[in-house]
Amino acid sequence: MSIVKSMKFLSQLVDIVYPPRCHMCSQFLPADEDLPSSHHLCRNCLAALTPITHPICTVCGLPFHTSKGQDHLCENCLRTRPWYDLARSPFLYSGPLMEAIQRLKYNSETQLTPCLGALFSSSAIELIPNPRDFLTIPVPLHRRRLRERGFNQSLLLAKALSSYLGTQLDYLCLIRKRHTRAQTGLGKEERRKNVKDAFSVIYPHIIEGRKIILVDDVFTTGYTLNECARTLKKSGATAVICLTLARTLFD
Ligand SMILES: [Zn+2]
Ligand SMILES: [Zn+2]
Repeated sequence: MSIVKSMKFLSQLVDIVYPPRCHMCSQFLPADEDLPSSHHLCRNCLAALTPITHPICTVCGLPFHTSKGQDHLCENCLRTRPWYDLARSPFLYSGPLMEAIQRLKYNSETQLTPCLGALFSSSAIELIPNPRDFLTIPVPLHRRRLRERGFNQSLLLAKALSSYLGTQLDYLCLIRKRHTRAQTGLGKEERRKNVKDAFSVIYPHIIEGRKIILVDDVFTTGYTLNECARTLKKSGATAVICLTLARTLFD
């Protein structure tokens, strides 16, 4: 038996002993379903994802309420252009995806990483035409929050993305120097102030002249990403593209 055949046989045997389950809802995955296996999701959970559809803001990616017309600048980006060049998210932050992101972050269910990483990476490829020119950087956690949580969910997503796109990954250059309150529950102005000057680049020579893919799990107001982008651009980054797995409609 060839190696490929024996590997296939082994994986079929594992599937019999441990039938694959949907990573989001834990239902058994029917063997006959023709689903992208890398997503590890059942048909119901895949159908419950809400992809963001055009028209969207050409800069921050905010989806507009109407389903007609071209992409254009939103009110916020018209008034103040963000420091990042582009922000995009494949899905709305809702339903089982929202639950899965919360389970990963607050319940340490890191077994969700391959599923969320695959969903994220496969949608990002369309947005980055020449990914190898980019350096991928996750939004950092303050060391205190990292100690509490034990991992940075943005780094898990950034790792999955950089290996999929074949980009370099750096998670040491950009640091969160100030411990900030969680943005959840804060008003817009409080959110902006909360992250002001919270980040710093400790190895500017790595950032200088580079194009950056900045990764986070959820885009809410964009203040955190904007502040990271400002810090990166001050250190000589030539472009910053923000990619998040999901975004809220909070604007
Ligand atoms: Zn499911
Ligand atoms: Zn916008």
